[in-house]
Amino acid sequence: MRLSRYFLPVLKENPAEAQIVSHRYMLRAGMIKQQAAGIYSWLPMGFRVLRRIEEIVHQEQIRAGHIPLLMPTLQPADLWRESGRYDDYGEEMLRIRDRHGRDMLYGPTNEEMITDIFRAHVGSYKDLPLTLYHVQWKFRDEIRPRFGVMRGREFLMKDGYNFDVTKEDALHAYNRHMVSYLRTYERMGLTAIPMRAASGPIGGDNTHEFLVLASTGESEVFYDDRVTDLKLGARDIDYDDKGQVAKVCEEFTTLYARTDETHDEAVFANVPEAHRKVGRGIEVGQIFYFGTKYSEPMGATVVTPDGTRVPVHMGSHGIGVSRLLGAIIEASHDDKGIIWPEGVTPFPVGIVNLKQGDGAADAACDALYAALRAKGLEALYDDRDERAGAKFATMDLIGLPWRITVGPRGLAAGKVELTSRATGTSEEMSPEAAIDRVAQIYAGR
Ligand code: ATP
Ligand code: MG
Repeated sequence: MRLSRYFLPVLKENPAEAQIVSHRYMLRAGMIKQQAAGIYSWLPMGFRVLRRIEEIVHQEQIRAGHIPLLMPTLQPADLWRESGRYDDYGEEMLRIRDRHGRDMLYGPTNEEMITDIFRAHVGSYKDLPLTLYHVQWKFRDEIRPRFGVMRGREFLMKDGYNFDVTKEDALHAYNRHMVSYLRTYERMGLTAIPMRAASGPIGGDNTHEFLVLASTGESEVFYDDRVTDLKLGARDIDYDDKGQVAKVCEEFTTLYARTDETHDEAVFANVPEAHRKVGRGIEVGQIFYFGTKYSEPMGATVVTPDGTRVPVHMGSHGIGVSRLLGAIIEASHDDKGIIWPEGVTPFPVGIVNLKQGDGAADAACDALYAALRAKGLEALYDDRDERAGAKFATMDLIGLPWRITVGPRGLAAGKVELTSRATGTSEEMSPEAAIDRVAQIYAGR
C-alpha cells in the first residue's frame, strides 16, 4: 500500500477524551473513530489489525476441531424467555421492538440461540461431541463505556459452545478451549494468564478468565509470578488426546492465579513471598463449563446408546476480539507509539523514502515494494512528499515491527537500512538482504 493513496487520518495532538495509552494511540494512529459512546467505526488501519486478530482466532479454533458458523446480531426475546434470562439480564441488554410489536434484542451473547439450533437438528449421541462457534458483533449497554475498544458497547467477540453427552467429555472440551486460547494469545505476542474466576450471569461452576497483566487493567489479580514464564511454544498438541490436553491445562493452572472474585488470602499466603504478586489485568477471554443449565429448560437432549434421552452438557467460551487490540497495545508500546507484535501487525514492514522525487530513491523503493509483494508481504510504503522526521514519526506511531529506510546516500553505497521498531536498532545491508531478512521473519505466518 502506498501511503499517499491510503486512508490514514493520523492525529498530531493527543485526544483529550482518551485516558489510557491504547485508546490514545488507536485514535492518533487513525485506527478507529467513535460514533457514539462505546460504538466505533474501524478505519482501514484498525480494520486490518481486527481482521488479522480474527483470522488467528479462526485458525486456532479450527485447529482444535471447532466448527465456525454465523448467527445474527438480532435475536427474538422469546428464546431468552425460555431460558429465564430475558428478565434476569437487566439493563445491559439492548431491547428493540419491531414494527409488528415483537420483542427483539441485540445479542449480548448466544447461549440461547445456539441451543435452539442444536435442538432443531441434533438428537443422537452419535452426533457428539460438537463445538460450534462464531465471531460476531455483540451489544452490551455498559453503564460506563470507556477506554476505547476495551470496554465498548458494540464489540466483536468470538463465542463458542460445546455439546457433549457426559460431563467428562464436556470437561475435555473445556480443556481443549483453554489450550487453544493459550495458543491464540501467544500467536498475538501476548502472555494471557488463565485465572480461576467467578461465573457471573452466564452461570456455571467451572470457569477461567484469561488476563493480560497491565497497570490499566480493570480487574485486580493475585498471582504467583512464575505463571508469566509458562509458554506453550511450538509444541505439538493432539486436541483429541484427553490426557495430553488435561496435562497442559494442569501445567498452566496449578500455580496460584485468581481474580478478586475468587481470591483466597489463606491459600495465597502459601505462595513464596518473592513470587507473590498483586496487580491488575485485562480480561481477554473466558471459558465456562455450565452443564445442563440451558439444555434442560430448552429441551436440548440426545438419545444415549441405551436408548434414554438426556440433556446435553454444555460450556461457552469467549474471546474479546476487538478488546484484544487495546490489550495488545497496552502490553506493547513506548512513548513514540504502538509496537505491533509480528503476529498481528497491519503491515509486516514499512518503507520510508527519505527523498521522494529522487530518481534512484524512488526506483529502489518501487523495486523493494514489488520484491516484497512477490514474497507475499504487503509493505506500507511512505511515498509522501514529507520530511524524513515526519515519516519516521508516523512509522513509529503506527508501530510496524520493521522499517526499511531508503535514501540517496545509502543507495550510492548499495545499502538500505533495516530498523526494528521494538529495539530501535538499525542495520545497513543491501536491498536484497533486507528483503530476505523480512521474508524470513514472517515465514510461516
Ligand atoms: P467484563 O467482566 O470485562 O465485563 P465479561 O466477563 O462480562 O467481561 P464475557 O461474557 O466473559 O465478558 O465475554 C467474553 C469476552 O468478551 C471477555 O473476556 C472480554 O474480553 C470481551 N468483552 C466483554 N465485554 C466487553 C466490552 N464491553 N467491550 C469489549 N470487549 C468485551
Ligand atoms: Mg468474562
